Amino acid sequence: MSQGGGPQPLSRLDMPVQFLKGVGPRRTDALARMKILTARDLLYHAPRRYDDASTITPIALAEVGTDVTVAGEVRSKGVLPTRSGLRIFQAVVRDDTGIVTCAWPGQPWVDRTLRVGDRILVTGPVRFFHGRQIQPREHVLLSRSSPRPLDASRPPDPSATPEASHAQGTIFVVYPASEELPQWFFRRAIGQNLDALLKQVAKEDPLSPDARQALGLPALADALRALHRPASMAQKDEALRRLAFDELFLLQILQARLRHRAARERPGIALVRTNALIKPLHDALPFALTDAQARVLRQIYRDMTSPRRMNRMLQGDVGSGKTLVALFAMLLAVEGERQAALMVPTGILAEQHASRIRELLGGLPVGVELLVGSATGRRRKSARARVASGEAQLVVGTHALIQEGVEFDALGLAVVDEQHRFGVRQRMALAERDPQPDMLLMSATPIPRSLAMVLHGDLDLSVIDELPPGRRPVVTRVVSAGERAAVLEEVRRRVAQGRQAYLVYPMIEESEDADFRAAEAEFAHLAQNEFADRRTALLHGRFPAEKKDEIMRRFQRREIDVLVATTVIEVGIDVPNASVMVVENAERFGLSQLHQLRGRVGRGKEAGLFVMIGGEGVEAGERLDVLARTSDGFEIAREDLRLRGQGDVLGSQQHGHAPAFRFADVLQHQDLIAPAQERARRLVAADPDLAAAENALLRLLLDRRYGDRAKLFGVG
Ligand code: ADP
Ligand code: MG
Repeated sequence: MSQGGGPQPLSRLDMPVQFLKGVGPRRTDALARMKILTARDLLYHAPRRYDDASTITPIALAEVGTDVTVAGEVRSKGVLPTRSGLRIFQAVVRDDTGIVTCAWPGQPWVDRTLRVGDRILVTGPVRFFHGRQIQPREHVLLSRSSPRPLDASRPPDPSATPEASHAQGTIFVVYPASEELPQWFFRRAIGQNLDALLKQVAKEDPLSPDARQALGLPALADALRALHRPASMAQKDEALRRLAFDELFLLQILQARLRHRAARERPGIALVRTNALIKPLHDALPFALTDAQARVLRQIYRDMTSPRRMNRMLQGDVGSGKTLVALFAMLLAVEGERQAALMVPTGILAEQHASRIRELLGGLPVGVELLVGSATGRRRKSARARVASGEAQLVVGTHALIQEGVEFDALGLAVVDEQHRFGVRQRMALAERDPQPDMLLMSATPIPRSLAMVLHGDLDLSVIDELPPGRRPVVTRVVSAGERAAVLEEVRRRVAQGRQAYLVYPMIEESEDADFRAAEAEFAHLAQNEFADRRTALLHGRFPAEKKDEIMRRFQRREIDVLVATTVIEVGIDVPNASVMVVENAERFGLSQLHQLRGRVGRGKEAGLFVMIGGEGVEAGERLDVLARTSDGFEIAREDLRLRGQGDVLGSQQHGHAPAFRFADVLQHQDLIAPAQERARRLVAADPDLAAAENALLRLLLDRRYGDRAKLFGVG
């Protein structure tokens, strides 16, 4: 993204950190290891903890049996040997209200790190041992009593009284520190340079006063000041909001550029809608579209008939009717004299989709083709020929669609179902053509809109947030391992009535270090015992694709009563007669994954039954209860995010630029995400290369933050 050479330093904020007061060349390497290279990096070195009067206990009030944080000065210290040979470091700490002994059993080395006169913050339980005694879990050196210069290469600096610069607020900030770069170092280095650096920041705030006003955010300089020297916890939170916004904004700019570039590179297709196919299908449907389906279809039609290429993500819960929406979109492509392709992760799903589509189309004159890996020689060849000639207008297939040698006559729309099952590259491969076909990615894994906008900011988002009427919710129960026998008995009963069942396990094989049930061993047992008189089969991800398909096909044909499986069955298989599912060690699964699994048994006329065995322990129980409480996938996803935290959720998304945020929190700051996206898209529309002088800073920040990734994505 830089315009030749490295990014041009704009200001003293970009100068190497070692030139700052109180830093010095000796620490350069250690700082670099913490990714602090420039003055700006130091300025953004955020405290990992804030303690204020509400969390700091006056020493006089530290009660035995409680857990406290106290702040005070080391009055005396020493290492005591004990009879048992354990050496205990002890320090007497004083604040304005009293004194207390702190003891570090078995950590005599702490003696070398603390001096009499140092101010420290100590967190830990208060015990009674010859008086009150704190056993610190954690301690932080707030400021150093400094009889000799700490950095021998520098003369003592009379202004270097860190306490003076940090004494303003009553809030103690605790930085991420290391042995090489201790707490007091950051407090001193930041304390000595903050005012000068903030003067510079004030000159280059990427948000104008108007924008800040509109968003209700503080100026960047004020935010950074409050980050390090908050006057109150509320001010600190305001500061974090501003820094979160900047982070979200930068990511959205990167994504807006991806989006813009995709549209600019090659022309899109403005399809012409004649209604010649859409209307007859509409009229023939035995039901009305839900409002949500109608709404997302309007968004999709609008995109497809515009010359700009559609790049849209369609989210909707299992059974919300995405396939039907996709079918209407594909018909629009066919009306516009183009082809449409629907790519799905497995052969059996492809077959299922193709036959459902043929059924829905009835007598409409649309050539539907199935293209899967298993089609052999001659048949595959003729299928490919029909795709290449355009005779096949609507092509449903697997990865086979993007294999070498597959040519389309004129692809107008590429739809990818269960898009997370494909890599970025595979999804692109389907749509990398000239002119660019419109692209619709479908996902049945609902994620909160805020998270979707962060992860998929380069796409437009459509959400089906309602299910067709009349769905019977799946009866959902959480039971303990003790009730397992009764659960299996219930399964036997339902199977005896002609239903089919899934038994799902977290793992294929047993492992030594893990104490859960595994599909292979359980299958061996169940097939000999509980289900000895039934037709059983095992299905897991290590089987080759053809074998998996074969087993699923037999299950579909009711040749199998009980399917013992891992999560391979998660993807949209539709077997209405399979109305029972039992998940063992359910605590091993994510909530959204369990919700997906549950979607398999809600497909028939009678209410499905979904039993989760596990959930021992309050936490696991609470988590699984969410599923029993609601069948709304979005609510479940929000709860999952709340319980697991964004780090886990972002980390598990296999998305090329899932960001690691330092400040932004997709739950806490969710109201900032849409404005950040809007602003970023407007900015990029007006100045796609950020070439304007007033955007130079953003360009630099973007390069700093996403330089490598931006290149990876070809935005450079
Ligand atoms: P998804 O792909 O989102 O999981 P499907 O498209 O497979 O959902 O739809 C599930 C079922 O609901 C299908 O049998 C479909 O025909 C039916 N369906 C779709 N839309 C409606 C609607 N508006 N009213 C009633 N049934 C619908
Ligand atoms: Mg589907």
